[in-house]
Amino acid sequence: MISIKHLSKTFRNPDGSTLTVLKDVNCDIEKGEVISIIGPSGTGKSTLLRAINMLEPPTGGEIWVDGENIMAKGYRLDKMRRKMGMVFQSFNLFDHMTVLENLTYAPVRLLKMTEEQAQAEGMELLKKVGLAQKADVFPASLSGGQKQRVAIARALAMHPEVILFDEPTSALDPTMVGEVLSVIRQLAGSGMTMLIVTHEMRFARDVSTRIFFMNEGVIYEDGSPEQIFEHPVRSATKAFVNRIQKLVYEIDSESFDYLQIRTGLSQFCLKYNISDKADKAYQLAKEMLFEHFRGIRPLTFRMTHAELSGQTALDFMVEGMTESPLPHNEAVEKLRTRVQDIVEEPTARGFRVKLLI
Ligand code: ADP
Ligand code: MG
Repeated sequence: MISIKHLSKTFRNPDGSTLTVLKDVNCDIEKGEVISIIGPSGTGKSTLLRAINMLEPPTGGEIWVDGENIMAKGYRLDKMRRKMGMVFQSFNLFDHMTVLENLTYAPVRLLKMTEEQAQAEGMELLKKVGLAQKADVFPASLSGGQKQRVAIARALAMHPEVILFDEPTSALDPTMVGEVLSVIRQLAGSGMTMLIVTHEMRFARDVSTRIFFMNEGVIYEDGSPEQIFEHPVRSATKAFVNRIQKLVYEIDSESFDYLQIRTGLSQFCLKYNISDKADKAYQLAKEMLFEHFRGIRPLTFRMTHAELSGQTALDFMVEGMTESPLPHNEAVEKLRTRVQDIVEEPTARGFRVKLLI
């Protein structure tokens, strides 16, 4: 359905310098595929999506859509745009129109639908995304998650053959990520062809038929979710999918700023969508630092979270120790019942006690 050959994009800055963002992108996308595009920021994921629908005209290569080269002279871009919907990180709704008007505007003008038909279809789509009751309000009164669901419904109103999503959940409060992902998941199930740039690894793994790992301006590795997430071939892919997020505190006295730690832990949990673990993490950290490891200073306290596996840990590292600093007493035995596991292990420079939570 879409075939991309040797696509490149070089930006020319006002000072005359240039930046090549897409170097040589090649891929074929079949009807019904759900492709998640993952990769470090700044590697050209957004530029690729914007190039595919010519919002950002490429500087070289070819893009074929349904057998036509859309970069060829004379090709009418509105024909291609009608086939492709796009959903942006920042929603881009028309703020001066009601929710339903957002959905009927383009179909009436571009597809020459009657107002009645567009409204009937618009209401069906709003039902599908759970927002029929919001048809007559303005976007300003909606939450971020609701705005994004309206944006998805608006894209669907044009009967696209493919929808491009550029980090649809990145601008959302973590509590609203789920409702948007579930709408996208539902669409994937219905057979819609989709390209989704996302940082949500587990979602990408669950919902996609194929994953593109972008790095350094190319599709560095592509394959099934299983291949990319479980058996990546190239080391940069492996490092990216297995990356672990960390929050680190150096604690060198008894009078450390535990309120700062509390705030840090809750923000970290919010950011990685594990707010359900925040209270537990803080209670355990407090107990470790004030009781079990009292007097053991300096130590390095870290909270880690592996996005793909979902594994979260609190670890406490003490330099220069050869044995576990964790005392053998009743309080520590009780602690064992409140965590998934306690790992006590020597490291290159000391000893680490890790609580898996
Ligand atoms: P990603 O979506 O993977 O984070 P982008 O495609 O947004 O990456 O950007 C890739 C690189 O291209 C970045 O270094 C960015 O600064 C640069 N870039 C993007 N758009 C423009 C532009 N319009 N002009 C100049 N540079 C740009
Ligand atoms: Mg981007």
